Amino acid sequence: MKTFTGIPASGGLAVGKAFVYPYDETPDIPRYNITEDEAAAEWERLQKALAKAEAEVKSLHERASREMSREQADIFQSHLMMLEDVDFQDQIRDRLEKTLQNIEWVVWDLAREIKQKLMSSSDPIFRERAVDIADVSSRVINSLLSVARSRFSLADIEEDVILVAHDLMPSDALVMDKSHVKGLAMDMGSRTSHTAILARAFNIPAVLGLSVISREIHDGEMLVLNGSSGIVVAAPDRQTLAREEKEEKQYRKQADKLVVLRDLPAETKDGYRVMLKANIEFPEEVEWALHYGSEGIGLYRSEFLYMTPGRAAEEEFQYEAYSRVLKAMGKLPVTIRTVDIGGDKVVPELFTLNEKNPLLGWRAIRFSLAHPELFKLQLRAMLRAGVHGNVRIMFPMISGIEELEQALALLDEARRECKKKKQPFAEDIEVGAMIEIPSAAMTADILAEKSDFFSLGTNDLVQYSLAVDRGNEKVNYLSEFRHPAVLRFLKRTIDAAHEKGIKAAMCGELAGDPSATAILVGLGLDEFSMTASSIPPIKQIIRGLNMEACKALAGKALQARSIAEVRAEVEAWTADPP
Ligand code: PEP
Ligand code: MG
Repeated sequence: MKTFTGIPASGGLAVGKAFVYPYDETPDIPRYNITEDEAAAEWERLQKALAKAEAEVKSLHERASREMSREQADIFQSHLMMLEDVDFQDQIRDRLEKTLQNIEWVVWDLAREIKQKLMSSSDPIFRERAVDIADVSSRVINSLLSVARSRFSLADIEEDVILVAHDLMPSDALVMDKSHVKGLAMDMGSRTSHTAILARAFNIPAVLGLSVISREIHDGEMLVLNGSSGIVVAAPDRQTLAREEKEEKQYRKQADKLVVLRDLPAETKDGYRVMLKANIEFPEEVEWALHYGSEGIGLYRSEFLYMTPGRAAEEEFQYEAYSRVLKAMGKLPVTIRTVDIGGDKVVPELFTLNEKNPLLGWRAIRFSLAHPELFKLQLRAMLRAGVHGNVRIMFPMISGIEELEQALALLDEARRECKKKKQPFAEDIEVGAMIEIPSAAMTADILAEKSDFFSLGTNDLVQYSLAVDRGNEKVNYLSEFRHPAVLRFLKRTIDAAHEKGIKAAMCGELAGDPSATAILVGLGLDEFSMTASSIPPIKQIIRGLNMEACKALAGKALQARSIAEVRAEVEAWTADPP
């Protein structure tokens, strides 16, 4: 039995036979010298190969536009742009004339050099571009060599398998027979890689970044893959298999329960009603939000749009993404958060800097206020998309009233700009502040005067309250919502909202944490927003609660002096609920 640990990229469990995809990164590329006179003919050959590759990519793009989301289709659009890139062609011509080698070698050698540069970048987005370069260059080389794209097409998989690959080209992922690919394990890739995006969009459990799995696993070997924990077990023994299969059954059973729960209200036994909403990063996740009975989108992390290089700065691109989500959600509210880049989400395209303390640096609303034109572009896209549904706008990392007022003033300007251009837009929308910095929680009463709602970002609120880097596993043990300071911040925020007659929501991971549900209900939280698949289990818990008892629990937890005391209160309460 062998266990591999990688990056959990798409949740769910898969058990099945491995299909190892033969991905040949370095096919035999002929290499020979040519004369100066022959260079023109080689260049001519390249032009024909480029035209052929372009036709192939265009047809993939058309297919993707029909069958998939805009974001996925854009992958092929970016391939087309690479094929047409004059700069790239100039570099090829230059190298051809200087080295006087055959054109396939020149293309391969240049692509390898570019890929290496990109792969050595510390930025995952650059590293992902290397995959696109590989995809495009191998297509051109195959076309030069008149070789079929691959020995085996993933479209021809005929039985259920767990696909194991060194790397997958986005085009491979597009054509693969999704009905037979039950899981995906890959040496390469990260959560932001195109393949991860596609796996999530297709709802295929995936573990990426496994380094060597494609070399260590053989065709037909039995695998268990857990896309939520990032674990792949090869040749599992009977016990492991039985345990994982049981887990899968439970997972499915839990998922099936949602059919019963999805139309039932998230209401305690004594009639206290809360809203359960979904967090999304990509428009296509809306389908799952609805599937799990979400009552809206509580957090749309718009910064993920910036992962499509070169496009996010276009108002129309953003407008379309927001419109798509709003249309799909119908009358249900969709809270779009303005970009939260910086910190751990560096987007090189928007020149966020290397900072000494990025989490305390030029992040979120600070970045937006420093780029008013970019910020207003995003706000206009949101306002305009608002005519297609029920949009709400939310600002991340508000530290005090000044930032909120500045953001609101720019929102007014964005409204005026839409008016001036005679563009229809949603005039009357709710605008809220995220409460994720202690200073915001402490001044929640002041912020409430200018907010239509609050949303508690507990991932950051815990991080900043306890000075514990949320991405550093060494101090992870300190990251505790049960700390009395965090509980007081939560209470203060929720109470301040209610005193001003506005709702308090939560969109940090804590909202989907079953161990926190009773306290949060007791504190009076109005809305919980979480990963869509967490909605049914949280709803089930809420439906078994009693508000008065939850209030008593919250009261006791607030009086506790330490994390241990809070934990003890919760345990005593859970063991013997009043
Ligand atoms: C949070 O901080 O809790 C939150 C929801 O925002 P993000 O995780 O995107 O920082
Ligand atoms: Mg946050």
